[in-house]
Amino acid sequence: MKKIVVMSGKGGVGKSTVAANLAFKLSSEGNQVGIFDSDFHGPSIPQMLNVKEDVLGAKDEQSIEPVQVNPNLKAVSMEFLLPDNDSAVIWRGPMKMKAIKDFQEKVQWGDLDYLVIDLPPGTGDEPLSIAQQFNDLEGSIIVTTPQKVAVQAVRRSIDFSKKVGMKVLGVVENMSTLTCPNCGEEIDVFGSGGGEKMAEELDISFLGSIPLDPDIMKSGEEGKSLIETDSKSSEMFENIVMNLKKELGE
Ligand code: ADP
Repeated sequence: MKKIVVMSGKGGVGKSTVAANLAFKLSSEGNQVGIFDSDFHGPSIPQMLNVKEDVLGAKDEQSIEPVQVNPNLKAVSMEFLLPDNDSAVIWRGPMKMKAIKDFQEKVQWGDLDYLVIDLPPGTGDEPLSIAQQFNDLEGSIIVTTPQKVAVQAVRRSIDFSKKVGMKVLGVVENMSTLTCPNCGEEIDVFGSGGGEKMAEELDISFLGSIPLDPDIMKSGEEGKSLIETDSKSSEMFENIVMNLKKELGE
């Protein structure tokens, strides 16, 4: 099983979108895929996979059965334990760590080809200890938007990856450009290219960029895979997965 961490230096840059679509894409190729949403405070994976109302199963106290999204894709998220959509998780650090440990030890994933781990945003203690609890990680994908504030956070994400002893598989620049629906012109809303430049400077792989695209937002809201939409962004995402596979030596 290849365990891949998806992380970001800050929130709202599209980390979960990348994690969900990576899981969708790998599972669509016939792989057995698991996705673990470890973002306690903003779990959004169930919405993006359209399994928001599902609950985790258990055969006994020692096992947790993931939610089956489709025949090739299973998911575990904090959200499956919350009583309703409006519930906030107000847990102290040790409680969160205990829950993560339980998930890590008890989830019956079965035979997986890939496990995608969506980390909480940032590089604080919480994502650090979560990443440390998983062993044999293949590496991390760092998602960023092009602005300086986001790109600066990539440096911290790289440092973070080093601390947990994992390879940086590469950087994805999200919300790169916007195609004007009227004239087709590419607009650099956040100034594209920052992620790529940073990757070059720091000598890490650039996996590709994803434009700001209403289809991406819509597919996330509807719980659909981006590759089901016939958009240009879908092609760009497939290219990212191809580059990722090269990094994985596949
Ligand atoms: P994060 O996990 O980094 O907090 P999300 O993946 O949850 O970010 O994305 C935040 C919001 O932005 C979601 O509503 C998502 O659908 C939307 N979004 C992400 N990437 C794009 C994009 N490239 N184009 C349009 N909307 C996007």
